[in-house]
Amino acid sequence: MNIRHFSFNPYQTNCFVAWEEEGTCIVVDPSFRSGAESDRFMAALEQLGTRPAAVLLTHGHADHICGVGELQEKFGCPVHMSSADIPVCEITLPGFTQPDKGFSTTDIRDGETITAAGLGFKVITTPGHTPGSVCYLNEKYGVMFTGDTLFAGSIGRTDLPMGEYDDLIRSIMDKLMGLDGDTDILPGHGGRSSIGWERTHNPFLEPFNEKEEEYNPE
Ligand SMILES: [Zn+2]
Repeated sequence: MNIRHFSFNPYQTNCFVAWEEEGTCIVVDPSFRSGAESDRFMAALEQLGTRPAAVLLTHGHADHICGVGELQEKFGCPVHMSSADIPVCEITLPGFTQPDKGFSTTDIRDGETITAAGLGFKVITTPGHTPGSVCYLNEKYGVMFTGDTLFAGSIGRTDLPMGEYDDLIRSIMDKLMGLDGDTDILPGHGGRSSIGWERTHNPFLEPFNEKEEEYNPE
């Protein structure tokens, strides 16, 4: 799987383009907002010679969905998002002008696999940061898009409307930490990490951190 990473808008929200075959791709969280960002993104697609076959939204916050309407209008692609996050699309974020929703979504369910552009992504529902937050796991390559649920060395905020801290911790511990340690995680903000690293080092999960195996009785 090939992955191209972008970071857009004042929140520096990650957007990923992933593809297996030339000519077609999936887009995770189209976060481009300004005209210049949109131009840069569309030019990159054109340069890659690829068209989005589907958009995968990790959740409905404005900084993750601001480019969706334009992308769907241009390419007519389905936009996958949990229906639990439809009200989240209306939340105004500090310092962020609300985008026009202007797009239609296809609901997703826990455990289903979305196949598009020759790639399969298992939906893992992880409520907490928002009620409809999900992670998308490509099992073949061991790569997971975690949105704002799990970051490298951090976790998503739960102080925004509809955020629930206890749900977030339960989602991370019950649904993500049991995955293969080699699973790469690509979060909605900041750099990449792995399940194994987060399981032993993430300070926000410290009460639950697995001990590293360095006990030496001598
Ligand atoms: Zn968010």
